[in-house]
Amino acid sequence: MTRLTVLAGPTAVGKGTVVREILKDHPEIILSVSVTTRPPRPGELDGIHYFFVSDQTFDEMVENNELLEHAVVHKNYRYGTPRGPVETALANNQQIILEIDVQGARQVKQSLPAANLIFLAPPSIEELERRIAERGTENPEQVAIRMHSALDEMAAIGEFDHVVVNTEVAQAAQEVLELMQA
Ligand code: 5GP
Repeated sequence: MTRLTVLAGPTAVGKGTVVREILKDHPEIILSVSVTTRPPRPGELDGIHYFFVSDQTFDEMVENNELLEHAVVHKNYRYGTPRGPVETALANNQQIILEIDVQGARQVKQSLPAANLIFLAPPSIEELERRIAERGTENPEQVAIRMHSALDEMAAIGEFDHVVVNTEVAQAAQEVLELMQA
């Protein structure tokens, strides 16, 4: 059984919703909390949704090798996976899931080849565009950038071990869970 699962896929495909659905019934699965230089959105809590850090702190974490992977996402802010909780989970034989972007997924596979890389795909590009526009938390320029990087991310689908299509949340969550338990 692979204990480290990376769930990646284009922005707005529904990674967060699928992960929440999985954790609802499986509190024993650990969700990695990323660090980011992005400011919190309304309702986001430090240490729960992300660890919100300054550029300087992020630099220090990189220098001290505290991040398992890190990347600039959507040409904007930096995001990274703290190494400690991943290593602890693996040492304790616990399942851990990373919800990160495609660049991060590649880096994880390089340092931990046993990682299970799952790509969450939209039912169609049109549906993905609809979900990005609908989300509406960013200004129009950011929406355009997200649309562009979503298409870039779709091109990486072949690098993944498995693809799950997120047509319906419960069904996608079930498929991811089965892959985690396979
Ligand atoms: P958001 O700003 O909407 O919360 O996240 C933007 C993107 O950053 C998402 O596609 C998400 O998967 C990605 N992301 C979140 N945390 C990490 C991380 O630790 N590493 C990497 N490489 N990407 C991340």
